[in-house]
Amino acid sequence: MTKKKAIATPGRTKEILEKYQFFFKKSLGQNFIIDANILVKMLETANISKQVNTIEIGPGIGALTEQLAIHSNKVLAFEIDQRLIPILKDTLQDYSNVEIIHQDILKADLPNIIKDKFANDQRPVKVIANLPYYITTPILMELLIARLPIESITVMIQKEVAERMAAHQSTKEYGSLSIAIQYYTDASVPMIVPPTVFRPQPRVDSAVLHLVMRDHPPVHVEDEEFFFSLVQASFMQRRKTLRNNLQRHFKGSLDKTEIESVFTETNIDGTRRAESLSIEEFALLANTFQIKIG
Ligand code: SAM
Repeated sequence: MTKKKAIATPGRTKEILEKYQFFFKKSLGQNFIIDANILVKMLETANISKQVNTIEIGPGIGALTEQLAIHSNKVLAFEIDQRLIPILKDTLQDYSNVEIIHQDILKADLPNIIKDKFANDQRPVKVIANLPYYITTPILMELLIARLPIESITVMIQKEVAERMAAHQSTKEYGSLSIAIQYYTDASVPMIVPPTVFRPQPRVDSAVLHLVMRDHPPVHVEDEEFFFSLVQASFMQRRKTLRNNLQRHFKGSLDKTEIESVFTETNIDGTRRAESLSIEEFALLANTFQIKIG
């Protein structure tokens, strides 16, 4: 038997697409990877081994799924596009450790599916994917907020979004998304990826974002919803001061003197801009404002 080439090669991908007369749906963010080296590097970043179970979002024709089948214990992959289900059955027929679930990841009951599919299995679960770019943020926020029993998330996403998610204080990329990601994870961007490794090629550069889940948030906040809405409001108009953005946010519930008293109590200058605040300062502001509101 001749050894099959990896799915993530230009030749094999072309062959599969032609065999099934598959056409890409832009609306589903379909950009398939044709370079197995990139996938191997992603697996190295995620530290994938046979001691790990994996969840993939959007297997496409199985480029990454195949590598996960070879290198991890069990793979659970969620694919929304019905046309890809029979293709995956064919391309991944040699691997008995892969389960494809035909479902929109945003509608999947992940806590129960994880419990059910990885029952009595002590191996950690890691999420790894080349995400559909049109829903990167909702997917990641969904995974984080649900506080799933997963160890890490390693995803290919649009470079600009990856940089915003992993941004540090006092940079132009730093914003409410960076704070949210930092609250749940330790984030890094280990790899920038050019459009040439995809079919079709996206118009933007991509990057691998690696998120390691935290056991506990780095700060204590009394009410997460209140905290995140304060962070978002602080960045509402980036060029404006905290005072300005927060006066607008608390209009009708706190007057200007009460708002100033919070700046005094927390020793955070209201003339600062949100991008200069650390997550600790945002937590302090949110907890203090919450007491004022009662
Ligand atoms: N993993 C493949 C690869 O790297 O070549 C394909 C990645 S492609 C960027 C994104 C995949 O996600 C497509 O197969 C697409 O059909 C699928 N997809 C899009 N929206 C989805 C959703 N809401 N739930 C699950 N899969 C989705």
